[in-house]
Amino acid sequence: MGKTKGLPFEDVHNRCNFLYQAAKESLKRHKTDLSLCRFYINTMTVIARRQGIRLHPDIKRTICKRCCLLLLPGISAICRVKKKHQKLVIFTCLGCGTMKRFIYNKDKLPTIDDPSAWLDFIIDGEQVRQPQTPQEGKRGDKKANKDVKDMKS
Ligand SMILES: [Zn+2]
Repeated sequence: MGKTKGLPFEDVHNRCNFLYQAAKESLKRHKTDLSLCRFYINTMTVIARRQGIRLHPDIKRTICKRCCLLLLPGISAICRVKKKHQKLVIFTCLGCGTMKRFIYNKDKLPTIDDPSAWLDFIIDGEQVRQPQTPQEGKRGDKKANKDVKDMKS
């Protein structure tokens, strides 16, 4: 009897991951029929709640709390940036009109848009996307600056 390695509740995480991706695909394919997307998202949140796992903030932020719709800008949501006391990103759900507000942070991209969060994808022997860590860029810049300094002195 050995302990199984890996994430606790790994099967639950896998299932939630699948349901989220299925919701996204169903929304992209049937832009007017939102019922399937709502069903997937509702199932995902119910499973997560019952099993006591926490959804990632980036996932949570793309779900409408009121009508369980996946908020994809351009399809099921309107995304606007407004400035009051500070810059805000406002998502408006096109299913029910609920608004979600987040503080705009230019340094923090959503995980999906962050290139450093991506792994290599090799499709048919061709590398589709390379991981680009921001640290490498910074290091390169420093080195370049150093070279400039060396040239000056
Ligand atoms: Zn909604």
